Amino acid sequence: MVSRVIPVDVFDLVIFGGTGDLARRKILPGLYRRFLSGQMTSDSRIIGAARGELTDADFRKMVSDSIDEFVPKGRRDPAIIEAFLSRLHYVAIDAKGEGGWDNLKSLMRPNVVRAFYFSVAPSLFGDIAARLNTHGVADAQSRIVVEKPFGRDLASARALNAILAEQFAESQIYRIDHYLGKETVQNLMAVRFANILFEPLWKSEYIDHVQITVAETVSVEGRGAYYDKSGAMRDMVQNHMMQLLCLIAMEPPYHFDPDAVRDEKLKVIRALDPVRSEDIVRGQYLAGGGQGGYVAHSENVTSKTESYIALKVNVSNWRWKGTPFYLRTGKRLRARTSEIAITFKEPPHSIFDDAEGWRENVLVIRLQPDEGMNLMVMIKEPGPGGMRLMQVPLDMSFAEALGDEAEDIPDAYERLIMDVIRGNQTLFMRGDEVEAAWAWTDPIINAWEAKGDKPQGYDPGTSGPEDALMLMHRDARRWREIR
Ligand code: NAD
Repeated sequence: MVSRVIPVDVFDLVIFGGTGDLARRKILPGLYRRFLSGQMTSDSRIIGAARGELTDADFRKMVSDSIDEFVPKGRRDPAIIEAFLSRLHYVAIDAKGEGGWDNLKSLMRPNVVRAFYFSVAPSLFGDIAARLNTHGVADAQSRIVVEKPFGRDLASARALNAILAEQFAESQIYRIDHYLGKETVQNLMAVRFANILFEPLWKSEYIDHVQITVAETVSVEGRGAYYDKSGAMRDMVQNHMMQLLCLIAMEPPYHFDPDAVRDEKLKVIRALDPVRSEDIVRGQYLAGGGQGGYVAHSENVTSKTESYIALKVNVSNWRWKGTPFYLRTGKRLRARTSEIAITFKEPPHSIFDDAEGWRENVLVIRLQPDEGMNLMVMIKEPGPGGMRLMQVPLDMSFAEALGDEAEDIPDAYERLIMDVIRGNQTLFMRGDEVEAAWAWTDPIINAWEAKGDKPQGYDPGTSGPEDALMLMHRDARRWREIR
């Protein structure tokens, strides 16, 4: 199978925070891979803009080191790396001062796409947006890309939206959620909307429940002070998990078009019921495995911030009434895995005696570590021994079919940056979506804060607090194993 690479228009991409962790690990190695594939053409340029006084040569050396560290050896071609590095420039800039902006302006070319990636702390978004305009760096077609977190509650998200709206139109603002850039997440939409098989079953009549799991093995060590002000609900549920839930729950948009898709997602968020306190389990990892616990890592011995959360969420509309969505995410768990599992109901009547062999149909969309999609179906156990049933996975991902070319599948950041250049906002969150998500999240957080609710301790390397098991046992269901 040959995948087509269609080059994007010529661009000047400025990365504010171009020397930061995200730029070095994801954005710049990702752009190199797009250059290698031919999608970024050799007349495009990338300009790093950050606080340090670097020359172009220093910046190129930093990016060259990043490529060595974060791009697999087989994809590192010295001549192409050299050509890529020659497309890089650097401007020292202070987002809060006036120095450097005129240098940046003089680098901008007319008649090419201008994009500005704000890979800096959100407290700087407003300063950068304003100075891009006051110094005449941006033009009417320019796009800005903003990183998470987008606010920490409804009020701050509204304020941030208002600040950006003073400088740029909504059609120019790309709020990134890298979960939406994953190949399988888009494959989920293809499977739902390009086949007749699934959509008729895609409702509470046939779907028993949905589980969304984002499990991490890492702790918060090293960024505990930041994380302690956030917690799993703000860091994961309000954005990434909510977006995944929306893609599963939304109605078919009339077209695969940015506003049509985002309108449908917004309707889902607005249909979410408030979550009852008995449907929430919060946890904090304890010390173990030679490492300190959450309170040591956050340097806050009295911290009530959750490093784990499980929730039962109901979508109150015709399609989903009676089909709960169970969400869970946490740090220091047994394995690093992200998946969505859609469990179908039993057939209305069984004609087979082998009731024990029977399992539900489950559609598993795996985002991490290896992206893929499986549909668990029942077949006859092969061979003699009568009609015995067994469950087998139908592999619905195409990574294997692509063979070596699978390595050319862009990762989430690469794909999303190319979408910015193409001017396609479908996989980016609109301002009203983000606000609606906070409007649902705020009362949940406020309720536990008002009660002074303390998270339950859980041992590292497990699947989380005991009470989270009960959240599903109570409904005669079980979490899938984290592995
Ligand atoms: P970082 O601290 O590693 O880098 C910050 C960058 O901003 C540096 O290049 C620094 O020079 C620049 N900077 C700081 N103050 C500045 C100023 N006044 N003017 C101009 N430049 C300034 O941060 P990071 O981890 O790369 O994160 C960047 C953004 O991406 C943040 O919003 C973060 O929340 C988000 N993010 C990061 C990750 C990640 O994995 N690192 C993941 C998701 C989201």
